Amino acid sequence: MGFGIGNSSSAMTDFLRQSGGYAVIDGGLATELERHGADLNDPLWSAKCLISSPHLIKTVHLDYLEAGADIIITASYQATIQGFESKGMSRDEGEALLKRSVEIACEARDTYYERCAEHHLSEGIKNDKILKKRPILVAASVGSYGAYLADGSEYDGNYGDAVTLSTLKEFHRRRVQVLAEAGPDLIAFETIPNKLEAQAFAELLEEDGINIPAWFAFNSKDGVNVVSGDSVIECASIAESCEKAIAVGINCTPPRFIRGLILSIQKVTTKPILIYPNSGETYDPDRKQWVQSTGVSDEDFVSYVSKWREYGASLIGGCCRTTPNTIKAIYKTLKSPADSPSQL
Ligand SMILES: [Zn+2]
Repeated sequence: MGFGIGNSSSAMTDFLRQSGGYAVIDGGLATELERHGADLNDPLWSAKCLISSPHLIKTVHLDYLEAGADIIITASYQATIQGFESKGMSRDEGEALLKRSVEIACEARDTYYERCAEHHLSEGIKNDKILKKRPILVAASVGSYGAYLADGSEYDGNYGDAVTLSTLKEFHRRRVQVLAEAGPDLIAFETIPNKLEAQAFAELLEEDGINIPAWFAFNSKDGVNVVSGDSVIECASIAESCEKAIAVGINCTPPRFIRGLILSIQKVTTKPILIYPNSGETYDPDRKQWVQSTGVSDEDFVSYVSKWREYGASLIGGCCRTTPNTIKAIYKTLKSPADSPSQL
């Protein structure tokens, strides 16, 4: 069951207050699954592990909690009923896997709380693991339509004229319903590449049966617009006017673009701003791999964190190619008492 942040528009603000003003989001899932031995060479990507190795997903969630994450994101980014059906599964089987992604994250949180209780640590750190009982949220990931296409189109946002608002709502509706019913605290709409899809998500949230809030995370490759070329300000405005959106921001975008994006989003939103950039490497959809040309080290990544906080982000984590070490460093920056604004 969820932590129960509720679905009022201030739910995230309340959570942040309990978390000391800032919250840490987890890091990349796929990279870590591979490090633990999973083979992700498949259009279903990390969702493949829901079938083949759910225990690895739980391990990665636990690694992130022990690195200090306050919010863990489920392994459903690329999990869609349509995608599972194309693998020969029935609709029911596909829905069960979506539900399973939320259950695995909730189980990881339960196990984590048990570990915290076992250790009774006053300072909450043991062998460099953070074992501190605190509010933890489970965010059910909903990747964009482009993520399902598995051709990299979530990185250019061009779905073509045939894809309309109603196509997108139709495509996402059942998945969002199933995930919401599985008991996460919120939905994480991720890597949203254009206005149209943001609008589709906003409208779906207002439909009957969706009783949890959501965050909206867009991606950009120039620091000004989202990847389709739509203005990030217009995209953020769609989230701002959606009552059930409790945070808005950016994911899977190189760190060097984040500052400008936070400043733009801030112009149009009163909601908490979240950012979980990638490591700065770029994804090559033809080769289906990350190209290590412009990547930044954990150290460089983390050197940005206090700046992002200054510019106005209050939820910070990592996306593709970031690791528990990245998240631990973010935790140390955001939660170190000496650095906290409340001490000033
Ligand atoms: Zn990413």
